[in-house]
Amino acid sequence: MSNRYSRKDFFKKTGSLIAGASLVAGFPNIIIPRKKDKLGVALVGLGSYASGLLAPGLQMTQHCELKGIVTGSPHKIPRWQERYGIADGNVYNYQNMHEVANNDEIDVIYIVLPTGLHAKYAIIGAEAGKHVWCEKPMTKTVDDCQALINAANKSKVQLTIGYRMQHEPNTQTIIKYGKEKTYGAVKEVKAGAGYSGGHGPGNWRASAELGGGALYDMGVYAINGARYATNMEPIAVRGKQWSEREEMYSEVDEFTEFELRFPEGVTAFGETSFGKSTNYLDVDAEEGWYKLRPMQSYSGVRGETSDGIKLPADPNHQQARQMDNDALGIKENSKPLVPGEDGLRDIRIVEAIMESSKRGGEWIDL
Ligand code: NDP
Repeated sequence: MSNRYSRKDFFKKTGSLIAGASLVAGFPNIIIPRKKDKLGVALVGLGSYASGLLAPGLQMTQHCELKGIVTGSPHKIPRWQERYGIADGNVYNYQNMHEVANNDEIDVIYIVLPTGLHAKYAIIGAEAGKHVWCEKPMTKTVDDCQALINAANKSKVQLTIGYRMQHEPNTQTIIKYGKEKTYGAVKEVKAGAGYSGGHGPGNWRASAELGGGALYDMGVYAINGARYATNMEPIAVRGKQWSEREEMYSEVDEFTEFELRFPEGVTAFGETSFGKSTNYLDVDAEEGWYKLRPMQSYSGVRGETSDGIKLPADPNHQQARQMDNDALGIKENSKPLVPGEDGLRDIRIVEAIMESSKRGGEWIDL
């Protein structure tokens, strides 16, 4: 047992999980409910991603299962309870969500709310002693990201960000190409993630306060992609943000383009949009090239290389794979594939792109 806990504290914290729980030295002394084959997950925010992808994904997972819901919409409750067999005692709203602290059936809180609400409710989950899975983008600001990381560390719970691509096999192959210099050292990355659509009045994706805008919503895939493809952290960034449909996107960006400078002369270009469909990650290396097109589609990521290798789409459910990996990480007390620090690094770049755009596209050191 970690010497940072007194025996009394340990019993107080683990409650009725005590019979099956242990604290193991490893990734930082988290609490592991050893007796459970499947960790209980509560989805927070029952919108389109939670209902369309995560809840169905949780029917396919081996290491976790859907046990609870947190919603501000009472009319959604009967449908979810009936469909997924959720017990009355595992239904919460945003006001009483902290009471999940007393619920041993819930091990993980999965935040699937508008971006501007991630920090507040993820911190409530962490302070309740629950592991936190938080959707991308992590939060609106670096300060909020850090506050969430601190809360998770304080409660000794795991915090992972829902960047499903990092769990996807073809993405993992190109990450390996970069690390092992299979095609020589990476020289340049180009990444685009955006869709052509629109958001009606009141939609949070058009609200600055709620963390809307193309850069937060989709641009983070391009940023994260540039970072994982180069296996480097950028040293400077510049960006440009604008809206063409001002009637829809007066508060947030409809389009963003950015450039990143990495060490050793490596560069990246990224683009994102609510008005143009883009979905690619192209990598140029010293001795060849490889690309993922699309780079982040739910229905599969496909790739090819300059020497004719084809990477066919993996048919497995991306969200089920991600949640199983993250649940196994908790059970085994291993470092998560996408920890909070990874989400924070993207938000540092997001903030710098926004600042650069305000300053007419000046380079900002990171
Ligand atoms: P939705 O708008 O479809 O759902 C958001 C839900 O949050 C609502 O249904 C509502 O649930 C709850 N909510 C609470 N307060 C508010 C509020 N003030 N305004 C609006 N909704 C509120 O969003 P998505 O499901 O598309 O996105 C949610 C999160 O998931 C975002 O962070 C997004 O970036 C991320 N996402 C990630 C994807 C991925 O591939 N990793 C794909 C899509 C989204 P309730 O009524 O139950 O309270």
